[in-house]
Amino acid sequence: MERLLTGLKPSGELTIGSYLGSIKQMVEYQNEYETFMFVPDLHAITVSQDPQELKSRIRKNIALYIACGINPEKVTLYIQSENLYHANLSWILECNSYFGEMSRMTQFKDKHSKGENITTGLFTYPALMASDILLYDADLVPVGKDQKQHVELARNIAERFNSKYGETFKVPSGLIPKTGAKIKDLVDPSKKMSKSEENYKGTILLLDSEKDIRKKIMSAVTDSDNKIYFDEENKPGISNLLTIYSSFKGINIKESEKIFENSNYGTFKKEVADVVATKLLEIQEKYQNIINSDLIDKILDEGRDKTIKLAKEKYEIVRKKIGLGR
Ligand code: ATP
Ligand code: MG
Repeated sequence: MERLLTGLKPSGELTIGSYLGSIKQMVEYQNEYETFMFVPDLHAITVSQDPQELKSRIRKNIALYIACGINPEKVTLYIQSENLYHANLSWILECNSYFGEMSRMTQFKDKHSKGENITTGLFTYPALMASDILLYDADLVPVGKDQKQHVELARNIAERFNSKYGETFKVPSGLIPKTGAKIKDLVDPSKKMSKSEENYKGTILLLDSEKDIRKKIMSAVTDSDNKIYFDEENKPGISNLLTIYSSFKGINIKESEKIFENSNYGTFKKEVADVVATKLLEIQEKYQNIINSDLIDKILDEGRDKTIKLAKEKYEIVRKKIGLGR
């Protein structure tokens, strides 16, 4: 069975974008692959985080993964920072990658060109991501557009290391999601719904109250045409709501268009709100049972112990090959 690895950094509260774009697919992948799913907390601190919020979010996210349908008996769940080998190997990979190639990463370039004050960690984090992947000989890493280049870099680093020191790392591949629903912000549908967005009006959080879910969907930005069909360019707001509706319902856009052929925006939005609220309330009920149980610690202890053992083996091979230590 091929090994698949993924993580959602705890940089903000998980949204329906995180769910539809990633977690929901993982719920399917867990039956097809040997799955590793972790909370990349070291990645979250590439930008400033409130320590208490970060800590509570790490636990919340694990509980949410499970509430969304991730089966801890099938999937190895763990927290990145609890396994020191991630950062250790990352350093070695930094020393086997180049300033030039890091500088070409578009995510970094975008932020840099906006004149944002960037930490050194934000510049070098693709090496940490390579470490996350290469430590466990992962075959596959699910990637959205924004991470494709980073998996490419991980491949290059692995190949470079292998040719310099002999076969050491498995060269991973990116896995393009089967149904790559891209969810847009409800207030500004030209940009994607993002968990690190400060404006929560455009973002539906998995733990939002029913009242907030409904309010946000009812006030989603649309247009004045009052016809419901999919046209991302001219009707980005309506198209986004159609995507959300279809993804939660598990039907395609064409089928949704048919359902709302003769509806007005008010009726349509209410139906979207019903579908989203129903599913999220179901997730929230499960979440409440999990977050307050001892189960999480048991799962995380097991995940930590298992991944430390695997990572140690790989790290010792690497260390020996490059001549570190005694
Ligand atoms: P951040 O703002 O911190 O970058 P994010 O919301 O963009 O957070 P990531 O952790 O960067 O989330 O992304 C994790 C995964 O979730 C990726 O595979 C990404 O494609 C998917 N994802 C995130 N937001 C969306 C979205 N709005 N629609 C579809 N997929 C999404
Ligand atoms: Mg992102």
